[in-house]
Amino acid sequence: MPATTLQKTGRYRGLGHTGPIDLRPTDLNKLKRYLEPNANIALPIRPQGAGTASTDCNRCVSGSILHTAGLDRITKIDSYNHTVTAQAGVRLGRLVDELAKQGLELIGAYDLQGRTLGGAIAAPCFGPVIGNQGAYFSSHVIAMKLVTASGQLLNVGPQQQNLLSALRLSFGLLGVIYEATLRVRPIRTFSASHRRISIDKFASVVDTLANGDIGFKFYMLPHRDCIYLDLRRYDAEPGNAFGVPWKIKDWGENAVLPNVVKSLNRLVPFPSVRYRLIDTISETTQKLVNTRLVTAGTNAVAQSRPHRKASKSVSRFSTWCFPAANFAMIAIAYRDFCESLYEQSGFRCDMPTVGYRLCQDASSLLSPSFDDPMIALTAASTQESGWDDFVIDLADFAENWAGTPLLSQSRALQGDYAHQVYGSRLDFFGRMRRRLDPENRLLSPFLAQFAL
Ligand SMILES: Cc1cc2nc3c(=O)[nH]c(=O)nc-3n(C[C@H](O)[C@H](O)[C@H](O)COP(=O)(O)OP(=O)(O)OC[C@H]3O[C@@H](n4cnc5c(N)ncnc54)[C@H](O)[C@@H]3O)c2cc1C
Repeated sequence: MPATTLQKTGRYRGLGHTGPIDLRPTDLNKLKRYLEPNANIALPIRPQGAGTASTDCNRCVSGSILHTAGLDRITKIDSYNHTVTAQAGVRLGRLVDELAKQGLELIGAYDLQGRTLGGAIAAPCFGPVIGNQGAYFSSHVIAMKLVTASGQLLNVGPQQQNLLSALRLSFGLLGVIYEATLRVRPIRTFSASHRRISIDKFASVVDTLANGDIGFKFYMLPHRDCIYLDLRRYDAEPGNAFGVPWKIKDWGENAVLPNVVKSLNRLVPFPSVRYRLIDTISETTQKLVNTRLVTAGTNAVAQSRPHRKASKSVSRFSTWCFPAANFAMIAIAYRDFCESLYEQSGFRCDMPTVGYRLCQDASSLLSPSFDDPMIALTAASTQESGWDDFVIDLADFAENWAGTPLLSQSRALQGDYAHQVYGSRLDFFGRMRRRLDPENRLLSPFLAQFAL
């Protein structure tokens, strides 16, 4: 998406419309040169990986966008010490495939494999992780090389835990990640089970699930009052993990469903008929691809690929995190919120709301689940009309239920609310940012609204 069509994220509006300049470094020297203070580059400079974040954290109206896709080398896979070192523009899907060839996998399953290593470290990247071994992709980073706002190469190793913790989830504000080393592990098979339950029933078990040694993802259909649960655990005999069923599941959920929904929106003019059809198709997809198809998986096969046409269809999504301890009440309140909003405004999301468990994880300063386990809830829709008002209502709902925002994924987020939630951690991060970038060369107006 061109940065001139700035999304209305936060309630901030951009002013100028000169358009940003695109910078595409392919090696470290070029990257350093772009960031040198005497390089005469339009400011601010915003790093961008795959550009899949749903707020303006990865773009700017004027200034420069530094695309990292050309930094795409996997430098080293160490099968003995179980680590991988790769450049920032490497796509997660490619990383997963190369690791699998050596019998290794990422510690955690992450959907949307088109995103980049740098984007997945600099912004919260999560999935149905089993157990409590780190909620985010960035939790497994043990070393990093980055180029600071003044063009200096900074090497950060395992001994500098405080600096590493600030650099994880730093949204490209402390420098541009050039290369990172991550912990990985030998491929391990989990068992997967699926079931359909009512939202009330889900509310009665969510606390137990959130505190158990399992991973889960769910698809909520608020207007059908049901949830499709995808539960993953490590069993003694998990069975065989085949890749094909996961590919069919991914294709059904992430390519077929959004495209069918988009077509129905065009073809069926009556909302009540249209939404009945859409919900029936969503349920059928879930029954076919989840309850019947996959029973065992590994982090190497259970991944979703980018589907270009479909990701254009579902370009609208907004994520908020909620305390797992209160999620029994929040799930029911969310269903009621969706229903009453539909009655009042005629707008509703046409895609299922997706949820993930995020274990408590203090590995980064700006971790959304720093103190407690959370549930991340992503509302998604293919429809443009009514979406901008919906995300404002969703933000109000989230604020009322003590939701934790993600600077990269929570639409209509207000700067002072983010400050209230992240409090002294955001203050500390801001002090560090000002020290590393005193001239605000990497700070865009969108990110400045969080008083960084
Ligand atoms: C359809 C869809 C589904 C999604 N589902 C999920 C999901 O299930 N789970 C989830 O966690 N997320 C999800 N996301 C959100 C998104 O994929 C994540 O935020 C992802 O981590 C962003 O990666 P990216 O490469 O696209 O980064 P970008 O969006 O390009 O950038 C994200 C942030 O990282 C910074 N950044 C990027 N590269 C660098 C670098 N080299 N150095 C420093 N800073 C950098 C950018 O400045 C920006 O602030 C989804 C997005 C879409 C479109």
